[in-house]
This record gives sequence, C-alpha cells and structure tokens, in this order.
Amino acid sequence: MAYILLRYGEIHLKGQNQRFFVDRLVRNVRESIADLGDAQVRHAFGRILVDSPAEEAALISRLRKVFGIVSLSPVRVVAPAFPDIASAAVDMVGAALAARPGVGTFKVDTRRADKRFPLTSMETSREVGQAIWERFPQVRARMDHPDLLVKIDIRDQAYLSSDTIPGPGGLPSGTGGRALALISGGIDSPVASWLAARRGMTIIPVHCYSFPFTSERSKEKVLDLCRVLAGYAGPLRVWIVFFTDIQRTIQLSVPEGLRVLVMRRMMMRLVERLAEQERAAAVVTGESLGQVASQTIESIAAINAVTRLPVLRPLIGADKTEIVARAEAIGTYEISIRPYEDCCSLFVPPHPRTQPGLQEADEAERGLPVGALIDAALQRSERLTITPRWARDPVGVGS
Ligand code: ATP
Ligand code: MG
Repeated sequence: MAYILLRYGEIHLKGQNQRFFVDRLVRNVRESIADLGDAQVRHAFGRILVDSPAEEAALISRLRKVFGIVSLSPVRVVAPAFPDIASAAVDMVGAALAARPGVGTFKVDTRRADKRFPLTSMETSREVGQAIWERFPQVRARMDHPDLLVKIDIRDQAYLSSDTIPGPGGLPSGTGGRALALISGGIDSPVASWLAARRGMTIIPVHCYSFPFTSERSKEKVLDLCRVLAGYAGPLRVWIVFFTDIQRTIQLSVPEGLRVLVMRRMMMRLVERLAEQERAAAVVTGESLGQVASQTIESIAAINAVTRLPVLRPLIGADKTEIVARAEAIGTYEISIRPYEDCCSLFVPPHPRTQPGLQEADEAERGLPVGALIDAALQRSERLTITPRWARDPVGVGS
C-alpha cells in the first residue's frame, strides 16, 4: 500500500490545452498500474497523486516509465497537524537510514500552501528537524547538499517525501498523433522509436522480416524490443512485413552498391501503404547522419523521394555513444546486441555507394515490379498486439 506523487513538466506550459494533456496523463497512469490493484489516481495542485494497495517498488517500476512524468516521489500523507507531521518525518528518516547507511546529514524543507497552519514554513522545518535529531542523533542537519532532503508540503493534508526519482519526461502517449516506426532489431531504431513515443506519438512498429535469410529468433528479438517499448508507451500494434521476396528480387536485379538503398526505398513504400490503413501521419527511422552509406544526405534524399510521408529521424544528430547510452538507459541495449543478424546486414556489399543520385536509384529499380512486390509483401504480413512484459500477452507470442 503506497502513495506516489507524480510531477509533470512541459504540460504546465500548455495553456488552454492543459486539460487535454493532464486527462490523458492520468488515464495513462491508471492503465500502467491497472493490474496492480484498485488504485486512486487524482490530479490536484498541478500534480498527480496515486494511492494504491500495491507495493511501492512495483508501482515505481511502472510509473517511472510513463511519458509525461518528470519525477516521482513516494509520499506519506498525514493530517496537517504538527505531531502527525513530525512522527511521519521521523519514520521516513528511519526508513531512509535503514536503506542508505551512508546518510550522515539531512535537511527539512517545508512548503505551506495552507496558511492556516499555525507554524510558518521555517518554524515547521526547524521543529521537525529537532524531532528527527532527537530520535537519530547520528545525523546532523545541514543546509547545503544534505544527504537526505525531507520535503513537507502542507495543503489539504500534509505530504512528506524524501526521495525523488526521475521519470522519462516528454508528453503523454496518445497526445502526439500516430506514426509507423521502422524497427530493425539493431541498437538505433528502438531508441528512435522511444524518442518519438516520448513526445506523445502513438508508434506502430514495423519490421521487415526476411525469413529464412534471417532466423525466427531475429523476429523474437524485434518483438522483445517492442515489449520493452510497450512498457513505456502501453500496448503496441506491431507489423511484421514479409520481406523475403522483395529482398530476393533486389539481390537478383539491383547492382550491388545500390541494394541497401533500394531496400530502404521499398520499406518506405510498404510503410506508406500501411500508413493509410493505420491512419498514421509519419514514419520514424533510426537513421543517423553519416553513420553508414545509406545514411548520407544523398541517400536520405533518395529514400525520401519515394514517399509523401514526413520521415522523422530523431537520431539524425546523435553520435553512436549517445545512442548506446540511451539504449542502455531505456532497456533495449541488451536485446539489441543479441547476435541475430538483420536482413540488411546480410546484404551489405563491401563497397556500397555513399552518394547515389536520385536518377541512379530510379534506374536501379526500373526492372522491378515495384507495385506487385509491395502488394504481395503486404498480403503475407502479420499484425500483432504487443503488451508490456508485465501484462498478459493476448496473442501468445511469449513473454
Ligand atoms: P538500427 O539499429 O536501426 O538497425 P543501423 O545503424 O543498423 O541502425 P541501418 O541498418 O542502416 O541502421 O537501418 C537504418 C534504418 O532503417 C533503421 O534505423 C530502421 O529504422 C530501418 N530498418 C533497417 N532494417 C529494417 C528492417 N529489417 N525492418 C524495418 N526497418 C528497418
Ligand atoms: Mg540496422
């Protein structure tokens, strides 16, 4: 049984639209912990308070992934009366000392929205500090950089917290439109999808699957990546596109140096068709400028030329080390480095063209039955629903 206080950031700047964002955030918070018991989630004083019968640690592991939340704190809620506040603060410090043996200094910081409270903020902090010190003489009060900061917020009730955990930030899922996200199983594309989703977009991952060039396990890998993303964004619709015949055809008839580029252009065409069906307004890729031959600005221009969809590339300016750090932080890295090859790495020639002209790409595709290939691939594609790892998986694709 726990109370958790959630703070949001950018939503405060939303003026007239704030309600829309807050309502959505509250709904997403509810859904993220729905299976943990009957929680109360209410919005008050520009923050969200969760009151749940579940364990604190279980709640935090979910809530720290909800987009839109900047930080969260476990809180104790007591009557706004000095004895209650002081004893809750003493308890809280006791728990912190037990959990973090290195704590030697503390500070009490009081905010008092309810000015009827008989003590001023300063007096409250001082008196509570005194009570803490009497109980735990081994810790000293210290104003700058204390090891432990006890925050007291006196409103309708008194809210005490001593721990602030960062959330992912961003905007609530479902407030930013819909985009298809091309996911390869590498390190970059899951991070790119995560960044787009963090801005509130509903992402629909699309994976181009080339069985038997790539193994069944490479598909499992992509689905596992999607499960991690679903832990942040909620249940995801995922498309596994049957790419084998397209790939085989490209291999047979496209000059080696242009194969990856043509493959990317075919992926864009597939996605454009899926976008109609999914009412998606954009596509997200994990491309980063100059990373590989197919990600030079010339290649990017040749890729964009085949679609009218905006192509969002959240990693365009990111270095590999930054992408890896983010992948580790969000939990996709371990999965991405599993050794199953992706379709494109199998076909990367020793010398891919880095500055293909648009005409060159068009010419390379001249002999291809582009429309028929796309139709056939889509007909054999499957659509799954992927739920977060902790939830029941309705399509039975493992856990
Ligand atoms: P990544 O980690 O995204 O694979 P990468 O450096 O390997 O990064 P490329 O293989 O050049 O990148 O792919 C560029 C982008 O094309 C990927 O970020 C992804 O968005 C998309 N893509 C590549 N292969 C596939 C695939 N099999 N299915 C869907 N999208 C793909
Ligand atoms: Mg890749």
